[in-house]
Amino acid sequence: MIKENAEKILESLPHGVDLVAAAKFKTVPEIQQAIDGGIKFIGENYLQEAEEVHNAIGNKVEWHFIGHLQRNKARKAVKIFDMIETLDSERLAKTLDKECKKVDKVMPVLIEINSGREPQKSGILPEGLQDFLAKAEKYQNLKIMGLMTMGPFSGTIEEFRPYFKVTKQCFEDAKKLDISNLECKYLSMGMTASYRVALEEGANIVRIGTAIFGPR
Ligand SMILES: *Cc1c(COP(=O)(O)O)cnc(C)c1O
Repeated sequence: MIKENAEKILESLPHGVDLVAAAKFKTVPEIQQAIDGGIKFIGENYLQEAEEVHNAIGNKVEWHFIGHLQRNKARKAVKIFDMIETLDSERLAKTLDKECKKVDKVMPVLIEINSGREPQKSGILPEGLQDFLAKAEKYQNLKIMGLMTMGPFSGTIEEFRPYFKVTKQCFEDAKKLDISNLECKYLSMGMTASYRVALEEGANIVRIGTAIFGPR
């Protein structure tokens, strides 16, 4: 079923939208089925788990980190990921930049926007984005490729919409800025329950787990 699920979702997405298969807690054979269905981007939340599946599967797909990255895991993350979608603090930016310099890598990152203003969630508040970007310009081993948001976990599908709208507005505002390591190209929003709304609001990356792999 996983292969068919992936094929069906890929077919349904508008041109120019990338599908990240959110694969937390999923096994190598399960992820392989998704790849057989055409998946080109795998999202992982936990570093140790990511290392294990990355070891087995390798670089025939791109790996996106979509969890909360602890700074003491930055070195390992830099090694295996092709994009970090969850840059959520200046301290993490500094650490990632340092680790990237050591291995002469420029890491594509997205900035996580705390669009729901939830105190327990990480991310940059919408009104703090401009200041964050100005500070992040000095981290030249990071290439800031856009924004991502989670939105609140509960609620009806329609209740996600305002958070996606806020993040899209941040995305448009950021596009106008002249910052050397910023190329505002990707807007990563929407999961199984919410990706259709996210697409309506301008997402061009969706991160889908349950609808591909089944419930966790
Ligand atoms: C798990 C996860 C998803 C996918 O969630 P589903 O509801 O299973 O589609 C998307 N984004 C992030 C950051 C996740 O952790």
